[in-house]
Amino acid sequence: MTTAAAIANDVRSGTRRAVDVVEGHLSQIEAHDSNVAAFNAVTADEARAAAAAVDAMVADGRDPGPLAGVPVAYKDNLCTRGIATTCSSRMLEGWLPPYDATVVTAMASAGAVMVGKTNLDEFAMGSSTENSAFGPTRNPYDLARVPGGSSGGSAAAVAAGFAPLALGSDTGGSIRQPAALCGAVGIKPTYGRVSRYGLVAFASSFDQIGPIAGDVADAALALGVISGHDPADSTSVPAEVPDFGAALREGVEGLRVGVIGELAGGSSNGSLGGMDPEVIERLHEAADALADAGARVGRASVPAVTYGLTAYYLIAPAEASSNLARYDGTRYGLRVAGADAEEMNRLTRRAGFGSEVKARIMLGTFALSAGYYDAYYGKAQRVRMLTRRDFDAAYTDFDVLLSPTSPCVAFPFGERSDPMTMYRCDTCTIPSNLSGDPAMSVPFGTGAADLPVGVQVLAPAMCEARMLTVAAALERVAPPLRPPRLGAGEES
Ligand code: GLN
Repeated sequence: MTTAAAIANDVRSGTRRAVDVVEGHLSQIEAHDSNVAAFNAVTADEARAAAAAVDAMVADGRDPGPLAGVPVAYKDNLCTRGIATTCSSRMLEGWLPPYDATVVTAMASAGAVMVGKTNLDEFAMGSSTENSAFGPTRNPYDLARVPGGSSGGSAAAVAAGFAPLALGSDTGGSIRQPAALCGAVGIKPTYGRVSRYGLVAFASSFDQIGPIAGDVADAALALGVISGHDPADSTSVPAEVPDFGAALREGVEGLRVGVIGELAGGSSNGSLGGMDPEVIERLHEAADALADAGARVGRASVPAVTYGLTAYYLIAPAEASSNLARYDGTRYGLRVAGADAEEMNRLTRRAGFGSEVKARIMLGTFALSAGYYDAYYGKAQRVRMLTRRDFDAAYTDFDVLLSPTSPCVAFPFGERSDPMTMYRCDTCTIPSNLSGDPAMSVPFGTGAADLPVGVQVLAPAMCEARMLTVAAALERVAPPLRPPRLGAGEES
């Protein structure tokens, strides 16, 4: 599979035409997306036109940018001007955003070519992409299993070779967990590193956009393109964007690496249970590999991570109940007629939202209501502070931390049907959303049923470069994954 970096190189130097690159990827989508269902929409015409514009720039002697001619897939909660943005919900039926998300503009300015909008759990609520109003996406490594979620379409698109790069959003793990389950690299940047302008809000104090890619170098390349201050997002941080590519060439000698004890399996020291033994084995192999490369590896403790899930599943629904109040039948998408405004509003929301979204709105409304606020929302916010403090303490002893990305490999459809079992998928990813720190998943071998396992690398705020150095070191020694299987007996 060609990397984004190689494509951009070839297109910039004129050895390959962007239109040919895009045609190749559109045929791969055409041949296999009926099985994978990664896309809600394939934007073939727009892609051909954008690729032709890139080629015209090259012919003119102008540089289209570091992603020249690179096909990219966007999670369908990122606004694309004049192109349906559905959040995989019936609620947004027929809605066309009047503007592009800042990240979409940034990618296009760097020469990237959008090939389509990818499937997700409705409004990004879920860990399997089974909660989509348009049906599930399938995992390219085993079509009988989920790709993870909520950015399952983006991760599957990368794994299936539909696009070397995709963007997703991560509120509680939705970039990292599907990347892990699909054998891809996924980065959740520091909160504020990447503009959220044009990302349909789920839980605004957690939401971050980030890349999913086939390797660490491509993920770093895309991260560099989408990072930076944006006055249109008040939480965007005005910080320098380092040369992420240079970080990949650094070594890990002397780096202090802490394996988060609470997330490392076993029954001692308050470790959380419920992790696949193979996932824990890969984690320890990854730690050993870093030690072999010269890092100083030890056991870190971040006790508050054991409360992360509970806190997140109060704060995120609370924010969602407020963010999703705007879907009232008046302003966006769906409207179901009623005798008066109140009835129209009720019927629209009843018909437009799926059951997981409704459950979260109710939970969030309850947690915020007078009398319960202190007991639930307030307490959850205190856990959030505690998490921040525990990470800060761990980072005085360690430069980066390691954990599994997901407690398990990709699971069969329907296997996690009760919400608690599904929510447990996010145990290892949620803590960095609570703290706002960056974290990424890098493939490291396989677990049960020969399916990909991801190891998570966590770093202090704004230290993505250091995180990438460690991920690149892991990638260099990770056992290669077998190719995905996209159809009966076929390989990509
Ligand atoms: N699985 C988590 C949830 O359902 C995280 C989702 C996300 O990161 N968007 O809320």
